[in-house]
Amino acid sequence: MIMSELYGSLVFDDRVMSRRLPKETYKELKKCCALDRPLSLEVANVIANEMKDWAVEKGVTHFTHWFQPMTGITAEKHDSFITPTKSGGVIMELSGKELIKGEPDASSFPSGGLRSTFEARGYTAWDPTSYAFIKDGILCIPTAFCSYNGDALDKKTPLLRSMEAVNKQGVRLLRLFGRKTERLNVTVGPEQEYFLVDTATFEKRKDLFYTGRTLFGARPPKGQELDDHYFGAIKPRIVKYMKELDEELWKLGILAKTKHNEVAPAQHEFAPIFTTVNVASDQNQLTMEIMKKVAAKHGMTCILHEKPFDGVNGSGKHNNWSLCTNFGHNLFEPGKSPEDNAQFLLILAAAVAAVDTHQDLLRIAIASAGNDHRLGANEAPPAIVSMYLGDELTGILQAIADGRKYSRRANCEVQLGVHVLPQFAMDSSDRNRTSPFAFTGNKFEFRMPGSAQSIAGVNVVLNTIMADQFEQFSNELEKAKDLHEGINKIIKRVMTEHGRIIFNGNNYSAEWVEEAEKRGLLNLRSTMDALPYLTSEKNIALFKRQNVFSKRELLSREEIHIENYCRLINIEAMTMLDMATMEIIPSVLRYKGDVAKAAKNSNAIGVDSSAEVEIANTLANLVKTARTQIATLQAALDKAHSMGLHIEGGRCYRDEVIPAMEALRRTCDNLELNTAKSYWPFPNYGDILFSVH
Ligand code: ADP
Ligand code: MG
Repeated sequence: MIMSELYGSLVFDDRVMSRRLPKETYKELKKCCALDRPLSLEVANVIANEMKDWAVEKGVTHFTHWFQPMTGITAEKHDSFITPTKSGGVIMELSGKELIKGEPDASSFPSGGLRSTFEARGYTAWDPTSYAFIKDGILCIPTAFCSYNGDALDKKTPLLRSMEAVNKQGVRLLRLFGRKTERLNVTVGPEQEYFLVDTATFEKRKDLFYTGRTLFGARPPKGQELDDHYFGAIKPRIVKYMKELDEELWKLGILAKTKHNEVAPAQHEFAPIFTTVNVASDQNQLTMEIMKKVAAKHGMTCILHEKPFDGVNGSGKHNNWSLCTNFGHNLFEPGKSPEDNAQFLLILAAAVAAVDTHQDLLRIAIASAGNDHRLGANEAPPAIVSMYLGDELTGILQAIADGRKYSRRANCEVQLGVHVLPQFAMDSSDRNRTSPFAFTGNKFEFRMPGSAQSIAGVNVVLNTIMADQFEQFSNELEKAKDLHEGINKIIKRVMTEHGRIIFNGNNYSAEWVEEAEKRGLLNLRSTMDALPYLTSEKNIALFKRQNVFSKRELLSREEIHIENYCRLINIEAMTMLDMATMEIIPSVLRYKGDVAKAAKNSNAIGVDSSAEVEIANTLANLVKTARTQIATLQAALDKAHSMGLHIEGGRCYRDEVIPAMEALRRTCDNLELNTAKSYWPFPNYGDILFSVH
């Protein structure tokens, strides 16, 4: 198929709608999307019918409301189009009502107490700003998922609300600059890291199979130290995979753009071209699903876990985020005129204030058991949230705050609204790769999210905290006698109160941890340290003010988060106990038995058997240690179970279960290094990391 036919061929997108829908219907739909107005049933009926005809022409027989419950993955329930006729046959139908509203029995989705099971029904509502598409022969209709009394039970609803908040407050702020902006959109381009390993190898490891990461494994002789994988030539089998992945994504209207090898062996990266945030979020969920599916067709398994292998890089997801008006003006693009620059610097100041005030929320948005292994290691940003602006922009903001001349490059006085600012040197040469939140010339790159996470959560936070700053600035500037004086005052205040969040140095260094503490920045090391901040008074008030989460909704998210954490660590611990007891120890004992036999045989013919005895002794001691550690882990697990799926239980997993798991792992990895390969019960790190040829 040629590209122009392939791209978007499975999407009921603007091109299809403008061609197939009656002009009036199409216009009405566009208007409703632009103004966030609900569609009338009459219009929905027309759209539903066309959507169904289009799908049926492509051989589709079923449709589903496609939604994103708080599990972080997507859900679907398939219904066929068939409707019986009086004459005993069937016709294919999709009504407007079926398009805009569904009622899945949703009692098994996590609700964090928002919906008791006796009122199990939730409803799904069409999000017409994200196109319907065909996946596996099913027409998928992107929807939001709510309980009967309107509580959001999903990840999309708050995202849509946060987009609305930043739109409302952003447009208001832009009015002060005389802009005629009608809508402010959030644009996002997520870069996705992943591992590909051979499925036959993958399936021999219970840990990978059940938890997506290795719980045991000594380091291989060769890891990533030679840096020979990063941007290296891509192996033919991977090339074929990436080609098919691109094609599958293009069919779904996903602008797959960049692909390359990453730092670790078997690690790769994918990036699409950015788009509106709710579409980017839907598409990233789809991308993750399709990455796995296409891998299976090639005999490989795609691993999205944040830290599948100890000692080599983990996987993240860089969330590139910006704001763009309906006229296509990117608000983080430094301007060409003095007016533009005043606006740009004010928006930048809003970001500085927002990130500093809500460090906790950004940290929580990316908190997960998987990501805990990544943050703070020498590969990902630390758990401390800070912001990179580069020396030039920092200097300019500081000069304004100090009321002095800015003189690093061009010796010009920075006076808002009077001068054109010096050209910012935002080239890649001074980009800081270690910053968790970096300004990269015309957007911010948030680098803390984990590879397996939905990007909805981080963008809910980014949109909401920016909306809140915009609101505060507007409140102040609408009253100001002189706009530029008002802006000067705000920038000065932001730099004084929030300038501490700006850090242009090396975030991986030990000095930064100390320095950050001196600056009073938060350092929330693990998920369980971060989570309790979610429902602080500050955060409840913020989300309420911006109409993004009610207090109930926020509490439910905290509860689900804790439950997930406990359940996940529990599965990992159980898998370890299982592998250690039923696979590792029996294998080692078999080897030890053979070594002992060899010692006996040597003795019998008068040959020195001290080496055999030494080996057997080492193994015996390690097995003994392992058995003690198994008992300790089991006891810690029992204790955690008894505490329930609450914060205390979560802390018990963090403080007792995880350390017990680490201790057992160390001993077993040591056993691996002392056991003949042919006896070891499953593939080792080398086998897995170099399993694709
Ligand atoms: P990197 O150097 O970090 O690999 P890239 O230039 O490959 O960065 O871009 C990373 C992502 O940023 C891409 O998905 C790209 O589409 C996205 N991006 C570029 N401009 C914007 C923008 N204005 N808003 C949001 N995302 C953007
Ligand atoms: Mg990047």
